[in-house]
Amino acid sequence: MAMDPAGGADLTGGLRVGLDVGGTKVLGVLLEGEVVRATVRRPTRPGTDGVVATAAEAVRELCADAGVEVAGLAAVGLGLPGVVEPSTGTVSHAVNLGIDLSGVPVGPLLSAELGGVPVTVENDLNCAALGAADRLGLQDMAFLALGTGVAAGLVLGGHLRRGHAGAAGEVGHLPYRADGPLCACGQRGCLELYASGSALDAAWPDAVPAPQAVFAAAAAGEPRAVDLRAGFADAVATAVRFLVLTCDVADVVLGGGVAQLGTPLLEAVGDAVDRQAADSPFLRSLQLRDRLRLTSSVPVGAIGAALVTRGDAPGHGQDHDARLPDRGASVLPGPGVAPEDRENPIETVAMTRRTH
Ligand SMILES: [Zn+2]
Repeated sequence: MAMDPAGGADLTGGLRVGLDVGGTKVLGVLLEGEVVRATVRRPTRPGTDGVVATAAEAVRELCADAGVEVAGLAAVGLGLPGVVEPSTGTVSHAVNLGIDLSGVPVGPLLSAELGGVPVTVENDLNCAALGAADRLGLQDMAFLALGTGVAAGLVLGGHLRRGHAGAAGEVGHLPYRADGPLCACGQRGCLELYASGSALDAAWPDAVPAPQAVFAAAAAGEPRAVDLRAGFADAVATAVRFLVLTCDVADVVLGGGVAQLGTPLLEAVGDAVDRQAADSPFLRSLQLRDRLRLTSSVPVGAIGAALVTRGDAPGHGQDHDARLPDRGASVLPGPGVAPEDRENPIETVAMTRRTH
C-alpha cells in the first residue's frame, strides 16, 4: 500500500482499476498498491458505446464496493482484444467487442465518462502476461494462452515485449503441419489449428466444454480421446519448445480457457515435452518440463490492466515495452479475489489480438 511520508495512508494515489474487457464479459479489479480491494464481473454490451458504458459501470461498482470515489482513482487500465495504440488510447478491429473500425478512442471516451480519470489501454494478452508475471513473481516468462486461438505474451527481463509490429509471441501461426488445413492467417497447418480450445471443440463436438470432456474420456481410457489428448499436448509442447528456443524464458505459463483443466493439462504437456526431447540431449539439457507453470486462479488480465497504468512502467505508449513494477514482499492476491470461473477471462484473446 502506498503511504505518504508523514505516515498517513495514501487513500488515492495507489488506487488503480484494471478491466479485462472480453466479448462476453468484463472482469475488473480495484488494486490498492498490490492488494486487490474489489472485483467485479459484468456482461459486455457490444459496440463502442456499449463497451464504454459497461466499463464505466464496472469502475463505479468497484469504487462503491471499496468505498472510494471514482475521482480518487489514480488511473484505469483497459485490456482490450484488438490492436491497441497505448499512446492514444485507441483500439482497432476489436471484432469480438463489435468494434470493427480503426482508431476508436475507447480510452479517451471512458476517461471523459469518468470525469477525467486517466485511462490506459493495452492488448488484453499483454495485460494477462503482465498480470500473471506479477502474481507468480516471475520476471522472465512467456504466457501461453490456449483459448479460441493460441498466442503468447512475453515478459522478458521484467519488460513486456510487444515487438516491432506488435506480433511478438504469435506462436499460434507457426506452421506445424505442412499439409494441414488452411488457417485464417493464410498459411497452412498453423499450430493454432491443433493446440487451441477451438481445435478440441472441432474434434469433439458433442460435449461442452470439449477440453474437459476429452481429458475426462482420455483419463477413462477411451482410445479416441487418448489419441486426441496426445495430439493436442504435442502441439502445445511444440509451442513451448519454440518459446524456449527463441527467448529462453525461465518459465512458460499455460493460461487461457483450456488451462482450466489444471494439473491434467500440465501433466499431458509435460509428457509431450519429454517425448519431444527424448532423442535430443540438447533439448533435455534445457529442462523444458521444469519451466512449465499454470496460471493461478486470479483474474490476471484485469490485474495486468491495472499494472500497466502505473507510473513505474516507463515507456508505456512510447517505447515497445512496459516494465513490471518492483515487487513488494507479497505476490498473493488480497481478500476478495474470487476463484476464476470455468470460462477464462483471456480465452478469446488470441484470434483477436491482431487481424490477419
Ligand atoms: Zn495461421
